[in-house]
Amino acid sequence: QAGAQSVRIVMTAERIAPRLIAVASGKGGVGKSTLSTNLAVAMALAGRSVGLVDADIYGPSQPRLMGAEDSKPEAEGNKLFPVKGAGGVPFLSMGQVAKPGQAIAWRGPMAGNALSQLVDAHWGNVRDIVVDMPPGTGDIQLSMIQKHKPMGAVIISTPQDLALMDAARAIGFFDTAKVPIIGLVENMAGYLCPHCGEMSDPFGSGGAEAAAAELGIPFLGRIPLDIAIRKASDAGVPPALGEGPIASAYGAIARQVID
Ligand code: ADP
Repeated sequence: QAGAQSVRIVMTAERIAPRLIAVASGKGGVGKSTLSTNLAVAMALAGRSVGLVDADIYGPSQPRLMGAEDSKPEAEGNKLFPVKGAGGVPFLSMGQVAKPGQAIAWRGPMAGNALSQLVDAHWGNVRDIVVDMPPGTGDIQLSMIQKHKPMGAVIISTPQDLALMDAARAIGFFDTAKVPIIGLVENMAGYLCPHCGEMSDPFGSGGAEAAAAELGIPFLGRIPLDIAIRKASDAGVPPALGEGPIASAYGAIARQVID
């Protein structure tokens, strides 16, 4: 009996580290941060204990996207406590550990240390952490991945050929690092004109699904180009929290990531 008791003590004392899910893109401006926010929120809505880390050192936008720009994380020594964001999702951002107004131009090792501070924070019983990665496939991304190996990566791209070529490079990068690809998301696919009601394809449509098939990776779904997404995001209210087709689309992507 004494043996059983000591086993129990060991099990409660050892916390299992959260699994990291990298959200990455071949280039900036394709909607990677927006997807990271909404994926985390949709996973939480689906019942997953999930957190969010903003590792995008070039433009840490999660404090705004999570509607918590004024919240600063508390620390115990140099171990941070995540801040509660939209949908009750705890998060930490590079923007919160940089000095206010400081342009972030860290080199690999410094960026790696800052990321470690975010990942090795007091995450409590958070099981999955969505990581909003810096765009592209440079040294900083590599050092991050070597130090904190994600259990998988979600790649996001617009449907344009050029963006898809960059996405393919990102997929190759994760392959080389032996990080499994969870799947590809197509963003800004199709635009419904709020004035005339006509559907158009500013960046084309369907390209990502075809590219996923060609690359042999799962296609997780598409999010249209919708002004409502931009407005809600700027206001710090992730559209995944709402109702309707956009929230459903994020929900469907989240369920596939959870599976
Ligand atoms: P990245 O992280 O790839 O640089 P962001 O997520 O910051 O991209 O998105 C860039 C801009 O595009 C933001 O203003 C965001 O609100 C907007 N945006 C992203 N996805 C959509 C979409 N599906 N529809 C409309 N606007 C979008």
